[in-house]
Amino acid sequence: MTVAAQFLTHTVDNQAPPLRNVNLYASDVALREAVTREGGGWGEADLLAYGAIAGGELMELGASANENKPKLKLFDRYGHRLDEVEFHPAYHRIMALGIAHGVAGYAWRHAGRAGAHVARAGLAFLHNQADQGTSCPLTMTYACVAALQHEPALAQAWVPRVAGADYDPVVRPALAKTTLTVGMGMTEKQGGSDVRANTTKAYVLAEGSRIGDAGNEQFEIVGHKWFFSAPMCDAWLVLAYTDAGITCFLAPKMKPDGTRNAIRIQRLKDKLGDWSNASSEVEFQGAWAERVGPEGRGIATILEMVALTRLDCMIGSASLMRQALVQALHHTQHRAAFGKKLIDQPLMRNVLADLALESEAATALTFRVARAVDASATDPHEAALARLATAIGKYWVCKRAPAFVNEAQECLGGAGYVEDGPLPRLYRQAPLNSIWEGSGNIQCLDVLRALSREPETREAYFLELGSARGLNAEFDRELGWLAAAFEDTATLEVRARRIVERMALALQAAILLKGGNAVVAETFCATRLGGAQGLVYGTLLAETDFATLIGRAVPQAA
Ligand SMILES: Cc1cc2nc3c(=O)[nH]c(=O)nc-3n(C[C@H](O)[C@H](O)[C@H](O)COP(=O)(O)OP(=O)(O)OC[C@H]3O[C@@H](n4cnc5c(N)ncnc54)[C@H](O)[C@@H]3O)c2cc1C
Repeated sequence: MTVAAQFLTHTVDNQAPPLRNVNLYASDVALREAVTREGGGWGEADLLAYGAIAGGELMELGASANENKPKLKLFDRYGHRLDEVEFHPAYHRIMALGIAHGVAGYAWRHAGRAGAHVARAGLAFLHNQADQGTSCPLTMTYACVAALQHEPALAQAWVPRVAGADYDPVVRPALAKTTLTVGMGMTEKQGGSDVRANTTKAYVLAEGSRIGDAGNEQFEIVGHKWFFSAPMCDAWLVLAYTDAGITCFLAPKMKPDGTRNAIRIQRLKDKLGDWSNASSEVEFQGAWAERVGPEGRGIATILEMVALTRLDCMIGSASLMRQALVQALHHTQHRAAFGKKLIDQPLMRNVLADLALESEAATALTFRVARAVDASATDPHEAALARLATAIGKYWVCKRAPAFVNEAQECLGGAGYVEDGPLPRLYRQAPLNSIWEGSGNIQCLDVLRALSREPETREAYFLELGSARGLNAEFDRELGWLAAAFEDTATLEVRARRIVERMALALQAAILLKGGNAVVAETFCATRLGGAQGLVYGTLLAETDFATLIGRAVPQAA
């Protein structure tokens, strides 16, 4: 034996090949069915095009943008204040692709066409699998339109730019750009969920000191925000108090006269995950802003934006689950242990099938809510359902994601814990959708508030469930439980999590029973409603049709 041959210690074997260039739309049966079922199928060509990008170039870019976190540049070398955030080129490329393909603007580019929000939800679902950090500015840009529409003059100037396709990171006045990004500032140090505890103030500008010709009342804002994501946006919707109460404002980065607005970044947050996204703390040192919506009605105004960002939290978590599942399926298809591929080991099949079931149910609920949002403007039933189901879905789908991603990670064994692959990043990201845009308890309390103040939401919810009555015995039993769950009003608040969980499960069951695959629907009802399941994934009954559940989830060849 030569000396060199002695150092050939081993051959690399029994490892999965790299998973590259998967069309994330073409290969995802549950996603395609959900998009079509909920009326977004006409966007299929756009979804297929973005599915190829998201599963190819965007995946590589996502890894780079997260390895190279944004850096705060407060000053230039001469000491001038900059208040800029420097991003890796991969970040800008992801933003450019996302914006060009409509992750922010698609629904507004196709405004009025039924299913536009559903198709756009599909684009966001694809994008988020490759990079989660950029999903933050993209979703806020998408969602701001709901608040801006309160001010027709502002909306006329801003909405076409928010829907624009040419990402432009250069700092210049908003109306000098063709495409804009917009963020949101609500949370302060002394109160996030409880925004009425805000102390930031807005002072109306006297006639002579107004700038620009926007035509709306102009203010100066003094105060701070403790969480202020995407501080490189062109503008933010911000809450501040006037004498009339808490009010919503649009504060641009550059004022219409071309000077820099007085929004000072204090520092960037050092976060568990979400690394490609910059989240900052800021002070408003007399920042120029225009009022959006009536004075004193700021919470109601910004909540219209938040309703859409909450939908996007659901999309984000459902899409994280899907990508984690794809990784788990790919690994177990190629890795053998104890004489069989992992995907053929009976206990692993139980885990994978259970994850597939959960992922499909999360996707089905998400796209049903997207349809309700989509139809809200013209259909009161759908508007009432959207009001309630957004909170239900935001609570449940986002809560399911961290344990799900951990289980998928475990399917890869040690490799799932190592930064060479995408699972650690997915795992770090997984808790976030549950925390921001109103944390879990806030969603549950919001469900109770909607039910008590807007009785039409209860009617819409039970009508939706009623349409699946008689399709499954477990489901029918669950309807009985839910009908009685609200009787003891004295204990509703303390029971809210349990109630909302079961409302979510029943809604998922109804959607699957009416329009989904029969095996998926029946297994879902037996396990999630019938109690035939343990507390962790991988505890489906022995008689489960594992082959169908796994077969639907395995990425299909394009
Ligand atoms: C990475 C990141 C980026 C963010 N970006 C932004 C941004 O761009 N703009 C922005 O405005 N905000 C942003 N946020 C803030 C986020 O929306 C808030 O952190 C969140 O809404 C919770 O508010 P809080 O942190 O003040 O917690 P608190 O309001 O103090 O809540 C703490 C806990 O108490 C619970 N709770 C509150 N009230 C009740 C109650 N009555 N009963 C039971 N439980 C209750 C909550 O559910 C939560 O679990 C961001 C947060 C993160 C982590």
